[in-house]
Amino acid sequence: NSILSSERKEKEEVIDKALRPTRLKDYAGQDGIREQLDLFITAARNRGEALDHVLLFGPPGLGKTTLANIIANELGVKLRQTSGPVLEKAGDLAAMLTSLEPHDVLFIDEIHRLSPVVEEILYPALEDFKLDIMIGEGPAARSIKIDLPHFTLVGATTRAGSLTKPLQDRFGIRAQLQYYSPEDLTTIVLRSMHLLNMPADKGAAGEIARRSRGTPRIANRLLRRIRDFSEVRHQGQLSEQIAKDALTMLEVDPIGLDSLDCQFLLAIIEKFQGGPVGIENLASAVGEESDTLQDMVEPYLIKEGFVQRTPRGRVATPRAYSHFGLDRKHKDLG
Ligand code: ADP
Repeated sequence: NSILSSERKEKEEVIDKALRPTRLKDYAGQDGIREQLDLFITAARNRGEALDHVLLFGPPGLGKTTLANIIANELGVKLRQTSGPVLEKAGDLAAMLTSLEPHDVLFIDEIHRLSPVVEEILYPALEDFKLDIMIGEGPAARSIKIDLPHFTLVGATTRAGSLTKPLQDRFGIRAQLQYYSPEDLTTIVLRSMHLLNMPADKGAAGEIARRSRGTPRIANRLLRRIRDFSEVRHQGQLSEQIAKDALTMLEVDPIGLDSLDCQFLLAIIEKFQGGPVGIENLASAVGEESDTLQDMVEPYLIKEGFVQRTPRGRVATPRAYSHFGLDRKHKDLG
């Protein structure tokens, strides 16, 4: 079983890669960010300079890694990828930095999780393109300075707020990714249908888009499951109804809320009488870290009008009650 599931996972990763747009023109939505990047990339290329360092922030699955790859492609340079928790020692970062070629892109995912010693080395590298590290220990220890090629750091994080101020200040370009509209997600799903050799059915694409929590990664995942359903039960045909049937079978919530979203809302309603309740209390009620709730769960629920943030805490809105078929009066009756 585990061999099968790891094979399946590998296959999914291959498909995931195949669906990832590689040029800015194929990147749907995020219009403001796309326009800005297009301008800055063109300017840097025309001047023959490295692009300024870029910070991308926003919830998972919205396209930060995709954008980092696109930036490198559009600049015509290589991308080296790593992540905050992987860079444990100063030497790990030094090895990456010294392997860069001029104007290359270094992508650090989860950049808010860099250790302080690694971050210390990053500052002069970002500002002056110099590496200043100690090698050896005790009396034999000495500091060496190395000139680095001009490169572009693309940092990605689910929350810009947890980056240290000095690190934040070193990014010339900052972009906050937003949840996608159903229209933009429909465009993404239609493109993926085409790449997966499926019939490009607008009705089915729209249905997936509405149930994907504003997130392209979820939309592509649902599409793959619908492809299985369509091949096995409908000879590969696709329609809005077939997509609906598949999503019902998969028990996907009609508007795409996932189980953590539902737990979060039901905890406010059932355990805290609809709120207001502080985030720490909610975190222990659902058994999740408060950071996860604040970065990944809450922003979407607030945007969709299920939760309000008040000075006294989180409050469930009437939409949250009606989503679960609950009566708001239930609160007043205690
Ligand atoms: P993040 O790094 O923010 O977690 P990813 O860049 O890995 O997100 O995106 C997840 C998947 O969603 C990608 O594999 C890609 O296929 C798809 N995707 C993300 N953004 C877009 C977009 N704007 N247009 C088309 N596909 C996208």
